[in-house]
Amino acid sequence: MIDTKRQRALARAQKLRERIEEYLESRKIIHTGFDVVEDIEVRKRRIMEELGGTEEQWNDWHWQLANRIRDVDTLTRLIELEEQDLADITRVGKHHRWAVSPYYLSLADFSDRFGPIKLQAIPLIAELTVPGGTLDPMAEEYTSPAPAITRRYPDRLIILASNICPVYCRHCQRRRLIGQRDHHTDWRQIEESIKYIRDNPEIRDVLITGGDPLTREDEDIERMLSALRKIDHVEIIRIGTRTPITMPQRITPELVSMLAKYHPLYLNTQFNHPREITPDSAKACNMLADAGIPLGNQMVLLNGINARCSVVKALNQELLKIRVRPYYIFHAKEIKGTIHFVTSVDKGIEIMEFLRGYTSGLAIPCYIINAPNGLGKTPILPQYVLSRGPDFITIRTWENKVVRYPNRREVDIRQF
Ligand SMILES: *Cc1c(COP(=O)(O)O)cnc(C)c1O
Repeated sequence: MIDTKRQRALARAQKLRERIEEYLESRKIIHTGFDVVEDIEVRKRRIMEELGGTEEQWNDWHWQLANRIRDVDTLTRLIELEEQDLADITRVGKHHRWAVSPYYLSLADFSDRFGPIKLQAIPLIAELTVPGGTLDPMAEEYTSPAPAITRRYPDRLIILASNICPVYCRHCQRRRLIGQRDHHTDWRQIEESIKYIRDNPEIRDVLITGGDPLTREDEDIERMLSALRKIDHVEIIRIGTRTPITMPQRITPELVSMLAKYHPLYLNTQFNHPREITPDSAKACNMLADAGIPLGNQMVLLNGINARCSVVKALNQELLKIRVRPYYIFHAKEIKGTIHFVTSVDKGIEIMEFLRGYTSGLAIPCYIINAPNGLGKTPILPQYVLSRGPDFITIRTWENKVVRYPNRREVDIRQF
């Protein structure tokens, strides 16, 4: 008896193992930043030398921000580019601003024209040639009840604290705000936005984003956090920043201990590819996690960059190792100049299907389409409910087994 039970379990285990064999095979060629540290180091040396920076400066976020590469002359000194690429970057640069921190550039392998880091940081002619999209499909400009605020939900809102970023991501959803001029949101506006929150007691969750709010100085951030913490009805504060990926030098011991004074504080970031997980970004995340700040990842699903089942799964599993919980996968928005990155919705659903059951529930984020005109985040799932009747529902499991399940009517507890 025991033996037959054990035998059945063993047969089942064998079947389960077969279900991930294909993934384990493809995982071998998906590299993280840890797998290519030597290459990154070589590129870092060259960039440092050309820009005349020391190791100490490299590790200083002010230096990283001040030395963002933003013109083709500098770029060609640092990497080999083909004539055509240079012409294209110059042409796109006249319409859409670009800039890359030296650190993030050091992650990019330019021998691959379509490498995941290069595609996120360096303009492609497609920004001008692929039609479609608008600049503000979310109608953020119509959902701003106070300066620097976007409010789309009953109980929470976002504050845009800066328009500056270490890297102007080529897929940016707010490229309309990334003008030629860098500016932090001025204090008068921030004060007005904080007043709006103070005057609206139903706001219990405030998200500080941008741009990248961590391009501001510690004192500025602390001023915002302490003002928000003085408002009783603000229960949680969230920071949205890509600095752990694009400029991990920003996550200093001083910043982290300051942030830890304003708990409960959450931080959401945006890793889009396993290559972005490097010793530096891992260290930044670990420092934040050690300070008790729960970390979430908001990946953007990007054609040509990460829109593959095995890449997303590898990314999410690697993120758990550095204590970042996958939170959202965003379907790329219909933003003018970024349409070449947009995938089909089918692709996103296929990825979700590939994750459930096949990896830890912790590695499964929610796939979200942002409804146009600021109507909000809408979760998209594969169909697991096949039909729904008054007494039974029919569901489909992760392995495609169809089962009937009782749709029970509740007994009245108070009768007992
Ligand atoms: C995304 C977003 C939020 C936060 O949404 P959650 O689902 O709570 O993470 C809040 N306000 C605006 C305007 C947003 O775009």
